Amino acid sequence: MRKNIVAGNWKMNKTLDEGIQLAEEVDKLVAQGVPDNTEVIIAPPYIHLAELSKRINTKRVHLSAQNCASEPTGAYTGEISAAMVKSTGAEYVIIGHSERRKYYGETNAILKKKIELALENQLNPIYCCGEVLDQRNANQHFEVVKSQISDALFFLSEEEFSKIIIAYEPVWAIGTGVTASPEQAQEMHAYIRQLVTDRYGEQVAENITILYGGSCKPSNAKELFSNKDVDGGLIGGASLKAGDFYAIIQSV
Ligand code: PEP
Repeated sequence: MRKNIVAGNWKMNKTLDEGIQLAEEVDKLVAQGVPDNTEVIIAPPYIHLAELSKRINTKRVHLSAQNCASEPTGAYTGEISAAMVKSTGAEYVIIGHSERRKYYGETNAILKKKIELALENQLNPIYCCGEVLDQRNANQHFEVVKSQISDALFFLSEEEFSKIIIAYEPVWAIGTGVTASPEQAQEMHAYIRQLVTDRYGEQVAENITILYGGSCKPSNAKELFSNKDVDGGLIGGASLKAGDFYAIIQSV
């Protein structure tokens, strides 16, 4: 059965003490209850993961990294491997966020290597895709998303692909306050599910979780999540306040 997920991407925010406070607040709220069949994930900075895994109930609030290295181990100063992420107690890793693509030159080929390493280390990838504004204005958004997904994911076996969560995040909506309309989100999510159907068949496509990301907040979450192919959200700014994040979780 398809799972709903709400995941908070903290990006480069919160010191360790602040992170502990936020994670404990989220954990406490989530303990009050979440909608059926809904999983809650937080993605703090790497260096908080091990500590947070001791401080919160990770069966209730699951942990994700925001990235991992494209190499397994060795002389890559400053990098964090998928195995290291796994060893902290994290279960998920965000791969291909548009900020990584834009500021760190991450291509679909690099992301493919990260996906492979994440799966080898029993991490579930949350794979981000989405077009920039110029591409949408030029009506290239479907082609862009198609190549992001097929280049980095469609080499996987059916069993491996079933562990992937896809996050559609139109870049023009991330951190801008401009949200995709529910119709735009549903249109792209249905397109992505069709791509998966064409490659892996209907059963796999039915079960895959596809999240929406981009200026999602308590005031618009319900409308976005009510679409039949939108299975929750990847939340940036609004995940930094426990109350807002919990309100979004309640909207699934
Ligand atoms: C994100 O960075 O994944 C995101 C969706 O950010 P925001 O919610 O702040 O637009």
